[in-house]
Amino acid sequence: MAEKWMVGVDLGGTTTKLAFVNSEGEFRHKWEIPTDTSEQGKEILPNIANSIAAQLTALKRDQKDIEGIGIGVPGPVDMETGIIYESVNIGWPQNYPVTATLQQLSGLKVVIDNDANVAALGEMWKGAGEGAKDLVLVTLGTGVGGGVITGGNIIHGAKGAAGEIGHITVIPEGGEQCNCGKTGCLETVASATGIVRTVKRRLPLFAGSSLLKDHYTNSGNVTAKDVFDFAAGGDRLALEVVEETAKYLGLALANIANTLNPEKIVLGGGVAKAGDTLLKPLQASFSQYAFNTVAKSTVLELAALGNDAGVIGAAWLVKNIG
Ligand SMILES: [Zn+2]
Repeated sequence: MAEKWMVGVDLGGTTTKLAFVNSEGEFRHKWEIPTDTSEQGKEILPNIANSIAAQLTALKRDQKDIEGIGIGVPGPVDMETGIIYESVNIGWPQNYPVTATLQQLSGLKVVIDNDANVAALGEMWKGAGEGAKDLVLVTLGTGVGGGVITGGNIIHGAKGAAGEIGHITVIPEGGEQCNCGKTGCLETVASATGIVRTVKRRLPLFAGSSLLKDHYTNSGNVTAKDVFDFAAGGDRLALEVVEETAKYLGLALANIANTLNPEKIVLGGGVAKAGDTLLKPLQASFSQYAFNTVAKSTVLELAALGNDAGVIGAAWLVKNIG
């Protein structure tokens, strides 16, 4: 009898990642297709169903060897009905019935969750979580996302919006405008975009010499990666920006940890690639703001799976939910 596989799907705004994964969480095959967001994304799910069928044929595998499809989607989800309430980046109409539609198109069982939650499940199962049952994933990318797992269960909340860590207010007054409509959200300071904004705000106030300042003056451009690279080399302006980022991020993570006391807070996304340059000042700030027992028992760690967390976590959904 052929080994049973699960399909993991990680739906993003430009690319959809897919994988066949076995029950041990090992990849058997992975691939990507573009996400067609035209005409309110009406081809997205048909493209996914067709692509899975085509890959099965190419690998000479039968649909009966597939246990189901797990899919992580960019927006809050109703777990009962399998609808996504809203999905700004991919154009689906409000309350789009993802589970029912994909089930009908593919003939397979479908399990859905929010993409940040799915990534957290992936890290719990095969990544930095190493089986930890109480874990928070914070994704520091263009925005800031989060997934909260307690007792092995993802926390969804009343309307699927639990774990919106990026929108924790860290600057109550005078903070920058956030995409969500509020001001002073964590995302406005700890995302890649936010870090660049902090550089631009601090630049005119910085009197000393700085290679980061020279770099920006000469090229007219600066990225979050530049900031961490220059900080790693000891540049004072870059270090000040990292320090400010770490202060607000540490404050938010300490408050989350004071509420949940997770075993691990796992940091993923492009900004987390800064590694120790971010982690060291962050650990200091976290320890300052966290309750003593929490500071000693909750570990901050870098994500291990990178871009694979989503498809692995999506496959986990099929194995464990529904
Ligand atoms: Zn916000």
